[in-house]
Amino acid sequence: MSYEHILVAVDLTEECDPVIKRAMNLALASNAKLSLVHIVEPMAMAFGGDVPMDLSQLQQQQFDQAKEKLNRLKNKYPEVKTGDSHLTYGQPRHEIHQLAKEHHVDLIVVGTHGRHGLALLLGSTANDVLHGAPCDVLAVRLVKTPQ
Ligand code: AMP
Repeated sequence: MSYEHILVAVDLTEECDPVIKRAMNLALASNAKLSLVHIVEPMAMAFGGDVPMDLSQLQQQQFDQAKEKLNRLKNKYPEVKTGDSHLTYGQPRHEIHQLAKEHHVDLIVVGTHGRHGLALLLGSTANDVLHGAPCDVLAVRLVKTPQ
């Protein structure tokens, strides 16, 4: 059985590249559609939901910057252009699962540092996404290159 729709979750850091490349190779091998997703986490959520100031302008800036970076990634990887790219507010696990269900995704690809959670295996977001996922999940191990 080969995959038909692969969704890559990107955090928009330079670490995205190996994650996208792995997903791209899989998509090419199975002739699958390849889509990207980035989730902007609400600032208020990061501060525990109780912030005595208006964060809406900052939040908008963060969203605009993410949009620009996501567009740059799409241009860098032409294979991704054929799929969709999603940028939403929310909690990564919830939004990624929701998108996967709505768009009939059969493989989610995430990166993992292997530094928290299940000790040396899964990073926190990868771990989170794996639990309750509506389809297969591939965690691409991110290795720090020596400086
Ligand atoms: P982390 O656990 O935060 O180190 O992130 C590991 C992986 O989770 C990244 O390589 C991405 O694949 C995914 N990820 C983390 N944050 C986000 C985000 N805000 N939106 C989409 N994917 C993310």
